[in-house]
Amino acid sequence: MPRGSNLERVSAFNQAVVLDLVRRSESGMSRVELIGATGLSTQTVSNIARRLLDLGLILESGKVHVPQGKPRTTLTIDPKSKYAVGAHLDPSMLTFVLLDLAGRVVHRKHLPVVAVAGPEETVARIAAAIEALISETDIPRTRVLGVGIAAPGPIEFDQGAVVGPPMLTGWERVELRQSLGKATGLPVFLDKDSAAAAHAELWVRNKRSDQNFAFVYLGSGVGAAVVMNGEVVRGSSNNVGEIGHFSTGDGGRLCGCGRKGCLGISIMPVELVNDAVGKGILPGPVDQADLRHITEHFHKLAALADAGDQGASSLFQEAADRLARAVEDIANLLDVDGIVFGGPSWPPVGTRYLEVLHAALANRLAMGMIHEVELVGSVLGEDITAVGAACIVLDHVLAPRSGGLLLE
Ligand SMILES: [Zn+2]
Repeated sequence: MPRGSNLERVSAFNQAVVLDLVRRSESGMSRVELIGATGLSTQTVSNIARRLLDLGLILESGKVHVPQGKPRTTLTIDPKSKYAVGAHLDPSMLTFVLLDLAGRVVHRKHLPVVAVAGPEETVARIAAAIEALISETDIPRTRVLGVGIAAPGPIEFDQGAVVGPPMLTGWERVELRQSLGKATGLPVFLDKDSAAAAHAELWVRNKRSDQNFAFVYLGSGVGAAVVMNGEVVRGSSNNVGEIGHFSTGDGGRLCGCGRKGCLGISIMPVELVNDAVGKGILPGPVDQADLRHITEHFHKLAALADAGDQGASSLFQEAADRLARAVEDIANLLDVDGIVFGGPSWPPVGTRYLEVLHAALANRLAMGMIHEVELVGSVLGEDITAVGAACIVLDHVLAPRSGGLLLE
Protein backbone atom coordinates (compact mmCIF):
# COMPACT_ATOMS: atom_id res chain seq x y z
CA MET A 1 0.00 0.00 0.00
CA PRO A 2 1.42 3.46 -0.84
CA ARG A 3 2.51 5.31 2.29
CA GLY A 4 2.33 9.00 2.99
CA SER A 5 5.37 11.10 3.67
CA ASN A 6 5.86 13.85 6.20
CA LEU A 7 8.00 16.92 5.53
CA GLU A 8 11.07 15.58 7.28
CA ARG A 9 11.05 12.45 5.15
CA VAL A 10 10.55 14.51 1.99
CA SER A 11 13.50 16.68 2.88
CA ALA A 12 15.74 13.68 3.61
CA PHE A 13 14.62 12.17 0.33
CA ASN A 14 15.44 15.35 -1.61
CA GLN A 15 18.86 15.46 -0.01
CA ALA A 16 19.51 11.87 -1.05
CA VAL A 17 18.32 12.63 -4.61
CA VAL A 18 20.81 15.51 -4.88
CA LEU A 19 23.68 13.47 -3.45
CA ASP A 20 22.87 10.58 -5.79
CA LEU A 21 22.96 12.86 -8.85
CA VAL A 22 26.29 14.37 -7.82
CA ARG A 23 27.66 10.93 -6.96
CA ARG A 24 26.77 9.47 -10.35
CA SER A 25 27.88 12.38 -12.53
CA GLU A 26 31.28 11.99 -14.17
CA SER A 27 32.56 15.51 -13.61
CA GLY A 28 30.24 16.95 -10.97
CA MET A 29 27.20 19.21 -11.24
CA SER A 30 26.53 22.87 -10.59
CA ARG A 31 23.61 24.05 -8.46
CA VAL A 32 21.89 25.31 -11.61
CA GLU A 33 22.20 21.87 -13.23
CA LEU A 34 20.88 20.25 -10.05
CA ILE A 35 17.85 22.55 -10.08
CA GLY A 36 17.20 21.53 -13.69
CA ALA A 37 17.65 17.82 -12.98
CA THR A 38 15.60 17.61 -9.78
CA GLY A 39 12.87 20.22 -10.32
CA LEU A 40 13.62 21.49 -6.80
CA SER A 41 13.63 25.22 -6.03
CA THR A 42 16.82 27.30 -6.02
CA GLN A 43 16.56 27.75 -2.27
CA THR A 44 16.07 24.03 -1.57
CA VAL A 45 19.05 22.98 -3.72
CA SER A 46 21.16 25.67 -2.15
CA ASN A 47 20.25 24.47 1.38
CA ILE A 48 20.87 20.83 0.52
CA ALA A 49 24.23 21.64 -1.07
CA ARG A 50 25.23 23.55 2.06
CA ARG A 51 24.26 20.63 4.26
CA LEU A 52 26.12 18.05 2.13
CA LEU A 53 29.18 20.31 2.16
CA ASP A 54 28.95 20.56 5.96
CA LEU A 55 28.65 16.77 6.21
CA GLY A 56 31.85 16.53 4.13
CA LEU A 57 30.22 14.31 1.51
CA ILE A 58 30.71 16.73 -1.39
CA LEU A 59 33.28 19.32 -2.43
CA GLU A 60 33.24 22.57 -4.36
CA SER A 61 35.75 21.49 -6.93
CA GLY A 62 36.01 24.28 -9.48
CA LYS A 63 34.24 26.89 -11.55
CA VAL A 64 32.67 26.50 -14.95
CA HIS A 65 32.39 29.66 -17.02
CA VAL A 66 29.12 30.22 -18.83
CA PRO A 67 28.51 32.67 -21.71
CA GLN A 68 26.22 34.89 -19.63
CA GLY A 69 26.14 35.35 -15.87
CA LYS A 70 28.37 34.32 -13.01
CA PRO A 71 30.68 31.31 -13.30
CA ARG A 72 29.07 28.19 -11.80
CA THR A 73 30.67 26.24 -8.98
CA THR A 74 30.92 22.52 -9.65
CA LEU A 75 29.92 20.17 -6.84
CA THR A 76 31.60 16.78 -6.83
CA ILE A 77 31.55 13.86 -4.47
CA ASP A 78 34.39 13.72 -1.94
CA PRO A 79 35.50 10.14 -2.63
CA LYS A 80 37.53 10.00 0.57
CA SER A 81 34.64 10.91 2.86
CA LYS A 82 33.05 7.45 3.09
CA TYR A 83 33.92 3.89 2.12
CA ALA A 84 32.20 0.53 1.87
CA VAL A 85 33.53 -3.02 2.07
CA GLY A 86 32.33 -5.60 -0.44
CA ALA A 87 32.86 -9.31 0.20
CA HIS A 88 32.12 -12.21 -2.11
CA LEU A 89 31.71 -15.66 -0.65
CA ASP A 90 32.25 -17.99 -3.60
CA PRO A 91 32.86 -21.68 -2.95
CA SER A 92 36.32 -21.42 -4.54
CA MET A 93 37.45 -17.92 -3.54
CA LEU A 94 36.87 -15.20 -0.98
CA THR A 95 37.16 -11.75 -2.54
CA PHE A 96 37.20 -8.43 -0.69
CA VAL A 97 37.20 -4.86 -2.01
CA LEU A 98 37.17 -1.47 -0.37
CA LEU A 99 35.20 1.05 -2.42
CA ASP A 100 35.32 4.82 -2.00
CA LEU A 101 32.24 6.99 -2.25
CA ALA A 102 32.84 7.50 -5.97
CA GLY A 103 32.60 3.72 -6.46
CA ARG A 104 36.30 3.19 -7.12
CA VAL A 105 38.17 0.18 -5.72
CA VAL A 106 40.91 1.50 -3.42
CA HIS A 107 42.06 -1.86 -2.07
CA ARG A 108 41.36 -5.52 -2.80
CA LYS A 109 42.16 -8.96 -1.42
CA HIS A 110 41.75 -12.48 -2.76
CA LEU A 111 41.84 -15.57 -0.57
CA PRO A 112 41.65 -18.81 -2.55
CA VAL A 113 39.92 -21.56 -0.62
CA VAL A 114 40.36 -25.27 -1.07
CA ALA A 115 36.89 -25.90 0.27
CA VAL A 116 34.78 -23.50 2.27
CA ALA A 117 34.96 -24.46 5.93
CA GLY A 118 32.02 -24.50 8.32
CA PRO A 119 30.18 -21.23 8.93
CA GLU A 120 31.86 -20.33 12.24
CA GLU A 121 35.40 -20.67 10.95
CA THR A 122 34.53 -18.93 7.68
CA VAL A 123 32.89 -15.94 9.39
CA ALA A 124 36.00 -15.54 11.57
CA ARG A 125 38.19 -15.69 8.46
CA ILE A 126 36.03 -13.15 6.61
CA ALA A 127 36.03 -10.78 9.59
CA ALA A 128 39.84 -11.01 9.87
CA ALA A 129 40.23 -10.35 6.15
CA ILE A 130 37.96 -7.29 6.40
CA GLU A 131 40.02 -5.92 9.31
CA ALA A 132 43.20 -6.44 7.28
CA LEU A 133 41.62 -4.86 4.19
CA ILE A 134 40.82 -1.70 6.14
CA SER A 135 43.99 -1.52 8.23
CA GLU A 136 46.29 -2.01 5.22
CA THR A 137 45.08 1.40 4.03
CA ASP A 138 45.37 4.60 6.05
CA ILE A 139 41.59 5.06 5.99
CA PRO A 140 40.01 5.66 9.42
CA ARG A 141 37.63 2.83 10.27
CA THR A 142 34.96 5.39 11.20
CA ARG A 143 34.62 6.27 7.53
CA VAL A 144 33.57 2.74 6.62
CA LEU A 145 29.79 2.68 6.21
CA GLY A 146 29.39 -1.06 6.32
CA VAL A 147 29.99 -4.44 4.71
CA GLY A 148 28.08 -5.88 1.79
CA ILE A 149 28.41 -9.63 1.43
CA ALA A 150 27.34 -11.61 -1.62
CA ALA A 151 26.69 -15.33 -1.31
CA PRO A 152 25.24 -18.04 -3.52
CA GLY A 153 21.44 -18.21 -3.36
CA PRO A 154 18.87 -18.88 -2.28
CA ILE A 155 18.88 -16.54 0.71
CA GLU A 156 16.46 -15.48 3.42
CA PHE A 157 16.80 -11.77 2.83
CA ASP A 158 14.92 -10.47 5.87
CA GLN A 159 16.90 -12.65 8.28
CA GLY A 160 20.14 -12.14 6.35
CA ALA A 161 20.62 -15.89 6.10
CA VAL A 162 22.05 -18.16 3.43
CA VAL A 163 19.99 -21.29 3.01
CA GLY A 164 21.81 -24.42 1.87
CA PRO A 165 23.70 -23.04 -1.13
CA PRO A 166 25.08 -25.76 -3.42
CA MET A 167 28.73 -26.63 -2.80
CA LEU A 168 28.80 -25.17 0.72
CA THR A 169 28.50 -28.16 2.99
CA GLY A 170 27.41 -27.42 6.52
CA TRP A 171 25.70 -24.18 5.43
CA GLU A 172 22.12 -25.44 5.72
CA ARG A 173 20.84 -22.22 7.28
CA VAL A 174 23.36 -19.64 8.43
CA GLU A 175 22.48 -16.17 9.68
CA LEU A 176 25.48 -14.65 7.99
CA ARG A 177 24.43 -11.01 8.39
CA GLN A 178 24.09 -11.25 12.15
CA SER A 179 27.24 -13.25 12.81
CA LEU A 180 29.40 -11.11 10.53
CA GLY A 181 27.91 -7.96 12.06
CA LYS A 182 28.88 -9.23 15.51
CA ALA A 183 32.38 -10.18 14.36
CA THR A 184 33.13 -6.87 12.61
CA GLY A 185 31.00 -4.38 14.55
CA LEU A 186 29.87 -2.93 11.21
CA PRO A 187 26.41 -2.89 9.59
CA VAL A 188 26.19 -5.86 7.21
CA PHE A 189 24.03 -6.28 4.10
CA LEU A 190 23.58 -9.71 2.54
CA ASP A 191 22.51 -10.33 -1.03
CA LYS A 192 22.71 -13.04 -3.66
CA ASP A 193 25.83 -13.14 -5.81
CA SER A 194 23.87 -12.57 -9.03
CA ALA A 195 21.97 -9.59 -7.55
CA ALA A 196 25.22 -8.07 -6.28
CA ALA A 197 26.82 -8.42 -9.71
CA ALA A 198 23.77 -6.73 -11.27
CA HIS A 199 24.17 -3.87 -8.79
CA ALA A 200 27.78 -3.38 -9.87
CA GLU A 201 26.77 -3.41 -13.53
CA LEU A 202 23.97 -0.97 -12.82
CA TRP A 203 26.42 1.34 -11.12
CA VAL A 204 28.54 1.49 -14.29
CA ARG A 205 25.52 1.67 -16.58
CA ASN A 206 23.68 4.32 -14.61
CA LYS A 207 26.08 6.74 -16.15
CA ARG A 208 24.60 5.71 -19.49
CA SER A 209 20.95 5.23 -20.28
CA ASP A 210 20.41 1.47 -20.36
CA GLN A 211 18.19 0.62 -17.44
CA ASN A 212 16.49 -2.63 -18.48
CA PHE A 213 18.67 -5.69 -18.62
CA ALA A 214 19.08 -9.20 -17.31
CA PHE A 215 22.35 -10.28 -15.79
CA VAL A 216 23.46 -13.89 -16.26
CA TYR A 217 25.94 -14.82 -13.58
CA LEU A 218 28.52 -17.58 -14.08
CA GLY A 219 30.39 -18.62 -10.95
CA SER A 220 30.78 -22.10 -9.51
CA GLY A 221 27.11 -22.37 -10.48
CA VAL A 222 24.77 -20.18 -12.50
CA GLY A 223 22.20 -17.56 -11.54
CA ALA A 224 20.53 -14.47 -12.93
CA ALA A 225 19.29 -11.06 -11.87
CA VAL A 226 16.85 -8.70 -13.52
CA VAL A 227 17.12 -4.91 -13.69
CA MET A 228 14.01 -2.96 -14.68
CA ASN A 229 13.79 0.84 -14.81
CA GLY A 230 17.17 1.12 -13.16
CA GLU A 231 16.41 -1.07 -10.15
CA VAL A 232 17.27 -4.67 -9.34
CA VAL A 233 13.97 -6.57 -9.32
CA ARG A 234 13.59 -8.21 -5.91
CA GLY A 235 10.65 -10.61 -6.24
CA SER A 236 8.60 -11.88 -3.34
CA SER A 237 11.57 -13.14 -1.30
CA ASN A 238 14.56 -11.48 -3.02
CA ASN A 239 15.33 -14.67 -4.88
CA VAL A 240 14.70 -13.68 -8.50
CA GLY A 241 16.88 -15.53 -10.99
CA GLU A 242 17.18 -19.15 -9.83
CA ILE A 243 17.82 -20.42 -13.36
CA GLY A 244 19.99 -23.44 -12.51
CA HIS A 245 17.31 -25.94 -13.58
CA PHE A 246 16.11 -24.16 -16.72
CA SER A 247 15.76 -26.64 -19.54
CA THR A 248 18.29 -26.41 -22.37
CA GLY A 249 16.79 -28.92 -24.80
CA ASP A 250 17.17 -32.66 -25.36
CA GLY A 251 19.91 -34.81 -23.87
CA GLY A 252 22.71 -33.47 -21.74
CA ARG A 253 24.14 -34.46 -18.38
CA LEU A 254 21.92 -35.96 -15.69
CA CYS A 255 21.15 -33.32 -13.07
CA GLY A 256 20.72 -33.93 -9.36
CA CYS A 257 17.07 -32.95 -9.78
CA GLY A 258 16.46 -36.05 -11.88
CA ARG A 259 16.22 -34.40 -15.29
CA LYS A 260 18.77 -34.11 -18.06
CA GLY A 261 20.34 -31.01 -19.52
CA CYS A 262 19.49 -28.46 -16.82
CA LEU A 263 21.36 -25.19 -17.40
CA GLY A 264 23.51 -25.39 -14.25
CA ILE A 265 24.88 -28.86 -14.85
CA SER A 266 25.42 -28.03 -18.55
CA ILE A 267 27.77 -25.10 -17.98
CA MET A 268 29.25 -25.46 -14.47
CA PRO A 269 33.07 -25.40 -14.50
CA VAL A 270 33.30 -28.59 -12.40
CA GLU A 271 31.23 -30.53 -14.95
CA LEU A 272 33.22 -29.29 -17.94
CA VAL A 273 36.48 -30.11 -16.14
CA ASN A 274 35.28 -33.61 -15.22
CA ASP A 275 34.25 -34.27 -18.82
CA ALA A 276 37.58 -32.98 -20.08
CA VAL A 277 39.45 -35.33 -17.71
CA GLY A 278 37.19 -38.23 -18.73
CA LYS A 279 37.99 -37.59 -22.40
CA GLY A 280 41.72 -37.22 -21.78
CA ILE A 281 41.74 -33.52 -22.73
CA LEU A 282 43.01 -32.55 -19.28
CA PRO A 283 45.27 -34.69 -17.06
CA GLY A 284 43.46 -36.32 -14.12
CA PRO A 285 42.47 -37.08 -11.55
CA VAL A 286 40.76 -33.98 -10.18
CA ASP A 287 40.02 -33.71 -6.49
CA GLN A 288 36.29 -32.95 -6.55
CA ALA A 289 36.42 -31.28 -3.14
CA ASP A 290 39.24 -28.90 -4.10
CA LEU A 291 37.40 -26.07 -5.81
CA ARG A 292 40.56 -24.03 -6.28
CA HIS A 293 42.03 -26.91 -8.29
CA ILE A 294 38.85 -27.08 -10.40
CA THR A 295 39.05 -23.34 -11.14
CA GLU A 296 42.67 -23.73 -12.28
CA HIS A 297 41.69 -26.63 -14.53
CA PHE A 298 38.78 -24.62 -15.94
CA HIS A 299 41.19 -21.85 -16.96
CA LYS A 300 43.52 -24.45 -18.49
CA LEU A 301 40.66 -25.93 -20.47
CA ALA A 302 39.70 -22.49 -21.82
CA ALA A 303 43.34 -21.85 -22.78
CA LEU A 304 43.43 -25.19 -24.63
CA ALA A 305 40.30 -24.26 -26.57
CA ASP A 306 41.80 -20.87 -27.42
CA ALA A 307 44.92 -22.65 -28.68
CA GLY A 308 42.76 -24.69 -31.10
CA ASP A 309 42.22 -27.95 -29.16
CA GLN A 310 39.19 -29.57 -30.83
CA GLY A 311 38.05 -31.54 -27.79
CA ALA A 312 38.12 -28.52 -25.50
CA SER A 313 36.39 -26.36 -28.13
CA SER A 314 33.54 -28.80 -28.60
CA LEU A 315 32.91 -29.02 -24.83
CA PHE A 316 32.57 -25.23 -24.70
CA GLN A 317 30.50 -25.20 -27.90
CA GLU A 318 27.91 -27.52 -26.36
CA ALA A 319 27.86 -25.51 -23.11
CA ALA A 320 27.36 -22.26 -25.02
CA ASP A 321 24.61 -23.78 -27.21
CA ARG A 322 22.76 -24.83 -24.08
CA LEU A 323 23.29 -21.43 -22.47
CA ALA A 324 21.81 -19.85 -25.62
CA ARG A 325 18.61 -21.88 -25.18
CA ALA A 326 18.13 -20.57 -21.66
CA VAL A 327 19.05 -17.00 -22.63
CA GLU A 328 16.40 -17.10 -25.38
CA ASP A 329 13.72 -17.87 -22.78
CA ILE A 330 15.00 -15.20 -20.40
CA ALA A 331 15.04 -12.53 -23.13
CA ASN A 332 11.58 -13.48 -24.43
CA LEU A 333 10.06 -13.44 -20.95
CA LEU A 334 11.48 -10.09 -19.90
CA ASP A 335 11.63 -7.89 -23.02
CA VAL A 336 14.89 -6.28 -21.87
CA ASP A 337 17.28 -4.15 -23.92
CA GLY A 338 20.19 -6.38 -23.15
CA ILE A 339 21.57 -9.46 -21.47
CA VAL A 340 24.83 -8.92 -19.62
CA PHE A 341 27.09 -11.85 -18.75
CA GLY A 342 29.64 -11.90 -15.97
CA GLY A 343 30.84 -13.49 -12.76
CA PRO A 344 34.07 -15.24 -11.83
CA SER A 345 33.75 -18.01 -14.45
CA TRP A 346 32.89 -15.70 -17.33
CA PRO A 347 36.23 -14.04 -18.26
CA PRO A 348 38.02 -17.18 -19.54
CA VAL A 349 35.12 -18.18 -21.82
CA GLY A 350 33.39 -14.85 -22.51
CA THR A 351 34.59 -14.14 -26.06
CA ARG A 352 33.92 -17.72 -27.14
CA TYR A 353 30.44 -17.86 -25.58
CA LEU A 354 29.38 -14.49 -27.00
CA GLU A 355 30.21 -15.63 -30.53
CA VAL A 356 27.95 -18.66 -30.10
CA LEU A 357 25.20 -16.65 -28.41
CA HIS A 358 25.15 -14.01 -31.16
CA ALA A 359 24.92 -16.66 -33.89
CA ALA A 360 22.31 -18.76 -32.07
CA LEU A 361 20.01 -15.90 -31.09
CA ALA A 362 20.29 -13.67 -34.17
CA ASN A 363 16.80 -14.61 -35.43
CA ARG A 364 15.34 -16.29 -32.37
CA LEU A 365 14.12 -13.47 -30.17
CA ALA A 366 10.43 -12.55 -30.23
CA MET A 367 11.10 -8.81 -30.00
CA GLY A 368 13.89 -8.95 -32.59
CA MET A 369 11.79 -7.03 -35.15
CA ILE A 370 10.95 -4.31 -32.61
CA HIS A 371 14.25 -3.59 -30.93
CA GLU A 372 17.76 -4.88 -30.57
CA VAL A 373 18.67 -7.04 -27.58
CA GLU A 374 22.31 -6.43 -26.83
CA LEU A 375 24.34 -9.46 -25.66
CA VAL A 376 27.45 -8.26 -23.87
CA GLY A 377 30.05 -9.31 -21.36
CA SER A 378 30.40 -7.18 -18.26
CA VAL A 379 33.42 -4.90 -18.25
CA LEU A 380 33.87 -5.40 -14.52
CA GLY A 381 35.95 -8.60 -14.48
CA GLU A 382 36.24 -11.16 -11.72
CA ASP A 383 35.80 -8.78 -8.79
CA ILE A 384 32.35 -7.73 -10.02
CA THR A 385 30.44 -9.49 -7.25
CA ALA A 386 32.46 -8.02 -4.39
CA VAL A 387 32.25 -4.58 -6.03
CA GLY A 388 28.47 -5.02 -6.33
CA ALA A 389 28.19 -6.02 -2.67
CA ALA A 390 29.95 -2.78 -1.70
CA CYS A 391 27.67 -0.82 -4.07
CA ILE A 392 24.70 -2.29 -2.16
CA VAL A 393 26.04 -0.66 1.02
CA LEU A 394 26.52 2.69 -0.72
CA ASP A 395 23.08 2.45 -2.32
CA HIS A 396 21.37 1.45 0.88
CA VAL A 397 22.92 4.16 2.97
CA LEU A 398 22.99 6.94 0.39
CA ALA A 399 20.42 6.38 -2.34
CA PRO A 400 17.05 8.11 -2.49
CA ARG A 401 15.08 4.88 -2.77
CA SER A 402 15.88 4.00 0.83
CA GLY A 403 13.91 7.05 1.90
CA GLY A 404 16.73 9.30 3.01
CA LEU A 405 20.33 9.28 4.03
CA LEU A 406 20.65 6.56 6.64
CA LEU A 407 24.11 7.68 7.68
CA GLU A 408 22.74 10.61 9.67
ZN1 LIG B 1 18.13 -29.92 -12.65
